[in-house]
Amino acid sequence: MSDKVKPMSIEAPYGTIDLKMLEDFTSADGISGCEKEASRVMKSYLEGVADELRYDTLGSLIALKKGTGNGPKVMLSGHIDEIGFVVRSIDDKGFIRLAPVGGWWGHVLPAHPVTITTRSGKKYVGVIGSKPPHGMAPEVRSKVQEVKDLFVDLGVNSKDEVELLGIKPGDMVSPKSEFTVLANPNYLMAKAWDDRVGALIATDVLKNLKGVSHTADVYAVGSVQEEVGLRGAKTSTYAVKPDLGIALDVTIANDIPGAEPGSKMGVGITLAIQDGSHLGHRGLLAYLDDLAKELNLTVQYDTLLAGGTDSGEMHKAFDGVINCTVSIPSRYIHSHRALIHRKDYADTVTLLTAFVKRVDWALIETLRGSNR
Ligand SMILES: [Zn+2]
Repeated sequence: MSDKVKPMSIEAPYGTIDLKMLEDFTSADGISGCEKEASRVMKSYLEGVADELRYDTLGSLIALKKGTGNGPKVMLSGHIDEIGFVVRSIDDKGFIRLAPVGGWWGHVLPAHPVTITTRSGKKYVGVIGSKPPHGMAPEVRSKVQEVKDLFVDLGVNSKDEVELLGIKPGDMVSPKSEFTVLANPNYLMAKAWDDRVGALIATDVLKNLKGVSHTADVYAVGSVQEEVGLRGAKTSTYAVKPDLGIALDVTIANDIPGAEPGSKMGVGITLAIQDGSHLGHRGLLAYLDDLAKELNLTVQYDTLLAGGTDSGEMHKAFDGVINCTVSIPSRYIHSHRALIHRKDYADTVTLLTAFVKRVDWALIETLRGSNR
């Protein structure tokens, strides 16, 4: 027994979340185009839950939980790729120059560790080089470094040493950081919440359907290459041919000092009215809003003026798919460490589990009719 005075305890009221699963998903290295480590983690959690597990040709994982027969197809999509880099070149001293994959801001990168994964799967940790401030000219100090000027220091002497490690141009370079439960345990910090959190929610919804009778065929998709232009969203939508599709993705949490008004973490359900890639189906948004109220869940609405989600491709496949995005507000996305809130995660799983159980042809016809 400790004689120290315990601090006021802060409870995490959403304790049913499988933190090990969240850690496994976010720890996997999987930048756009190199997602198989992440998709294999998702697959491992859906074995014994899904009736069918397959991939599209780009590598998106498609898990199906069958309905009671001839029901509509509902697709929940979360992208499993994260932003990162590939090795662009290696100089004579063994410093590695980078080509970005996805949208980085140079400001968040210097002095951060990265993991380089070779084609044989070996992993090496390096650090993005940074200059100390001593004697730096003010105009240099105030400038944001361009990503193309950054380099990785692996702690080696020469290009020969890098080649001995098996590192080659094109190898994946991913952010390195640890999954961490913060002081108030509702706040979870990790890399790659954008958008492993969407793939996690789709996985948890499918897990909740185990042993439950439902009409619709429910698909949980871990889509690839979202960060470079919603590419896996397109191919996986064509593979599934859904009647209704919901993209799950992070949105910018505007609840930090100096931010514009906008979505906040810890509210519960965040319905996206629109982003740069799609306009949410009004009938579907209204249905989800009503369902959330019925379940006593709080809803906020999100509008993004730029950026896109898997919805951008999903809604315009074939002759159109009933579609919207359900968002998870997250602070510090597109950096080494982002935050999510357990309430947003748990409430979104609750809402979507209830929703997919209710989808039948009558609802699909009602929604189709709502914009005619
Ligand atoms: Zn992103």
